Amino acid sequence: MSQPSNEPSFRESVDLMFNRAVRLMDLRPGLEEKIRVCNATYTVRFGVRLRGEIKTFTGYRSVHSEHMEPVKGGIRFSLGVNQDEVEALAALMTYKCALVEAPFGGSKGGLCVDPREYEEHEMEMITRRFAYELIKRDLINPAQNVPAPDMGTGEREMAWIADQYKRMHTTDINGAACVTGKPINAGGIQGRTEATGRGVQYALRAFFRDDEGVKKANMKGTLDGKRVIVQGLGNVGYHAAKFLSEEDGAPVVCVIEYNGAIWNDDGIDIEELKQYITEHGTPEGFSGGQFFEHGENLLERECDILIPAALEGVINLSNANRIKAKLIIEAANGPVTAGADEILRDKKTVIIPDMYANAGGVTVSYFEWVKNLSHIRFGRMQRRQEESRHQLIVDELERISRDTSINWTLSPDFKEKYLKGAGEMELVRSGLDDTMRLAYDSMAQVWHGREDVTDLRTAAYLTAIGKVAASYHAKGL
Ligand code: NAD
Repeated sequence: MSQPSNEPSFRESVDLMFNRAVRLMDLRPGLEEKIRVCNATYTVRFGVRLRGEIKTFTGYRSVHSEHMEPVKGGIRFSLGVNQDEVEALAALMTYKCALVEAPFGGSKGGLCVDPREYEEHEMEMITRRFAYELIKRDLINPAQNVPAPDMGTGEREMAWIADQYKRMHTTDINGAACVTGKPINAGGIQGRTEATGRGVQYALRAFFRDDEGVKKANMKGTLDGKRVIVQGLGNVGYHAAKFLSEEDGAPVVCVIEYNGAIWNDDGIDIEELKQYITEHGTPEGFSGGQFFEHGENLLERECDILIPAALEGVINLSNANRIKAKLIIEAANGPVTAGADEILRDKKTVIIPDMYANAGGVTVSYFEWVKNLSHIRFGRMQRRQEESRHQLIVDELERISRDTSINWTLSPDFKEKYLKGAGEMELVRSGLDDTMRLAYDSMAQVWHGREDVTDLRTAAYLTAIGKVAASYHAKGL
C-alpha cells in the first residue's frame, strides 16, 4: 500500500515516536542515542537453483539492542522487505519485549520473496538456505538470537529453520530453542499460533476495564456489541477477528484483504470467510456479505474499533483525516505513520500502540523458549496433583452436605470446571492474560497519571525506554 511521498519512512516514523517520548524523560547524556540506534544489520545474498536456473535472494537480520540476550524478533517473507523496514521492526521488538517484560533484546529478519510464487519444496530450499547463512554466523542461536514467525512465515518455516539448526549443531541439547513458533510435534507450544490475535483480544479486554481510557476514547460500556473492522485475515487478523466475534460479542462488520473486502452490517462469520479465502484465494464471491473491490477505502467507514492487522503505513497522511473509528488497535507493526498519529491524536482517536497490542506473539514465544530449555511441557508435573486436591475439597463438601443435611449440591458445571487441572493451553492463556493486563496497567498509569502524556503510544514508549535504560544502568552504562 503506497504512502504519500511527503511522509517519513517506517524507520523514521519509529524514531520520531521514540524522540517524542524521550523529550519527556531525563536520560543520562548519550543514553538516548545508544538506545535509539540499531546495533547491527547483516545483509545476505544467496543463490538457490530453482526451475533450471540460479535465483538470487536478499535477506536481512537486524539486531537493534543487546541489553538483554538472546535477542528476539520474527522473520518476514515479503517482496517489500528492506533494510529500513527490518531495522524499524527490530527497534519495535526492543521496546515491545521491555514493555511486556520478556527478557530479550530486539531483533528482526526478512527475506525479499513472495511465498505465493513458489511451491512448498522450493520454499523449503529457500528457507533452509537463508537459515544456513544466519546460523553459521550465530544470527540464529538459542543463546543469542531467536527468530519467530511474522508476515509470510508460520509454523512450517520455523520447523525447517529448527531442523536446519539441529543439522548444523548436532550436539546442542537446547537446539529446539533456536526459534519459536514451531509446530507442537517439533518442540512448539500450545497456543503459539493464536497468540498474537489472542493478545489483541486480551489487550482490548484490558482497555475496556479501564473506565478512564474508555471515556477518553469517547466510548461507553464493554466490548460487547462494539462494531469492528479488520484489515488482513492472516494469522493475527484471523485469530483476533474470530475471538472477538465468537467470544466477546463484538461483530466484525468488515474484513479487508489486499484483493478486496467484505462488508456485513450484521457481522461476518469469520470461520466461513477464512475457509472461503483459503479455497478461492479471494473474498470475491463470498455469500456472507457485500464484496468491494477496493478494500482500503473501507478503513474509513464508521465503526467502533479498527484493527489494522496486515502491514505498515496503511493509515497515513492521505486518509488519517477520514478515519472514523474511535479506537484503533495496531495489531500489525507500524500501521499508523507518525504524521497520521499526530492527526488522529488531534481528533482524540485513541490508539492502542503496536508495541503493546501485538506483544502476545513474543510473550508466548518466550514461554515456548522456556519450555524448550526446560525440556518439559508446562503442566506435566502439577496437573493431576492439582486435580486430586480439588477432588478432595469437592468430596469433603459433599460429605458435609450429606452428613449435616444442609441440603445443597455443587452444580455439575461448576464441578467439571473446578476439577479440571490446568494443561499447557490453559497455562499459556493465563500467562498471556496476566502479561497483557500488567503491561496495560503500566502504560495506563503513565497515560492517566502525567499531564504531559496525552496518548497511549507515548506512555508505552516511556514505560519501555525506562526499562531498557534501567538495564543499561544495571550494566554500569
Ligand atoms: P500473515 O502473512 O499471516 O497475514 C497478513 C495478511 O494481510 C494476509 O492475509 C494478507 O493477504 C493480508 N494483506 C497483505 N497485504 C494487504 C493489503 N495491502 N491490504 C489488506 N490485506 C493485506 O501475517 P501476520 O503474521 O498475520 O502478520 C500481520 C502483521 O502483524 C504484520 O505487521 C506483523 O509484523 C505483525 N505481527 C505478527 C505477529 C505474529 O505472531 N505472526 C506478531 C507480532 C506482530
